[in-house]
Amino acid sequence: MKEKKHNFCAGPSTLPQEVFEQLSKAVINYNDTGLSILETSHRSDSFLEILHKTQDLVKDLLQISDDYSVLFLHGGASLEFLLVPYNLMKIGGTGAYLDTGRWSSKAIHEANILGNAKIVASSKDKNYNYIPTNYHVPTDADYFHCTTNNTIYGTQINEFPDIEIPLVADMSSDIFSRQMDFNKFDLIYAGAQKNVGTAGCALVVVKNSILGKTDRKIPTLLDYQKHIDNGSLSNTPTVFAIYTAYLNLTWLKNKGGIQGIEVENNRKASFLYEEIDRNPFFEGTARTEDRSKMNVTFNLKNTDKENLFQELCDDAGISGIVGHRSAGGYRASIYNAMPFESIEILVDTLRKFEKKLN
Ligand SMILES: *Cc1c(COP(=O)(O)O)cnc(C)c1O
Repeated sequence: MKEKKHNFCAGPSTLPQEVFEQLSKAVINYNDTGLSILETSHRSDSFLEILHKTQDLVKDLLQISDDYSVLFLHGGASLEFLLVPYNLMKIGGTGAYLDTGRWSSKAIHEANILGNAKIVASSKDKNYNYIPTNYHVPTDADYFHCTTNNTIYGTQINEFPDIEIPLVADMSSDIFSRQMDFNKFDLIYAGAQKNVGTAGCALVVVKNSILGKTDRKIPTLLDYQKHIDNGSLSNTPTVFAIYTAYLNLTWLKNKGGIQGIEVENNRKASFLYEEIDRNPFFEGTARTEDRSKMNVTFNLKNTDKENLFQELCDDAGISGIVGHRSAGGYRASIYNAMPFESIEILVDTLRKFEKKLN
């Protein structure tokens, strides 16, 4: 068998090795119940215990108050693009959006199906390589939506506006990676396959008081309030994905929670950016002050040498480093579970490339 690769894929992304091992055991026999986790009933005590512990871990790690509900829903982050306007936008109402990339644009597209998405600012003019500032959020909008980390373009928002209307954030690619006042947000959602667990599931953290304000009729499975009333069990939930989130968030808690992992994330990102800035053959693509600590995007200055770089990456066991098809270049996704040693291997590969060409 080949050795485990260094997986820089943007998602589904790598998880801690110990989580992979715990999961593989649970697939055969969950916690000595004599049942695989895959055949465990979502109404069983064993699963309900997992669900409630995972919801508690989310609240504990994010340090959010009891005014919030924690849900695990089907459809990934992309279905939340629709659920947000469904639940928050009044009929004929408006959602205000910050357009910082492809995922924001997709959220805007869904909002326009139900009503009006008003773009307050966009960084499309420079292929989304920066975060707009000095924009105005209309006070009469039903909510303001932003994407905290732009997975494809490698930018991250550091400052959020103080507004009276609900603040909604797609945190798919940076939730649990850095400390923030999460109570500032009224609705947070994240596809689970980056920093939470595995694909097919979205984590939704919603402040109860913002719901019930729209006059719209909401289909059952799209209705946050019904999901809350049903304890996130309106239908069979993504049992395996939720169990994965439980293991992964327990791992995070044992690492000192968000405070602990943030120190490591800062160290990993600076080590890689320093090399990209030093190495004459590469250049970073995002504006320096907006650089993401989760998705590091860079280009090869001389694209004729792509094959050589790819070869060196393959030899080093580096996988998933090619940029998104809409951005090109390279992207190293370095989420919570990415070990520092893998960053060292990547930096070493950039240096080897430089030596070969000198
Ligand atoms: C990956 C990603 C999504 C899409 O997630 P799905 O679960 O595939 O729907 C949405 N937003 C952001 C910021 C992402 O990184």
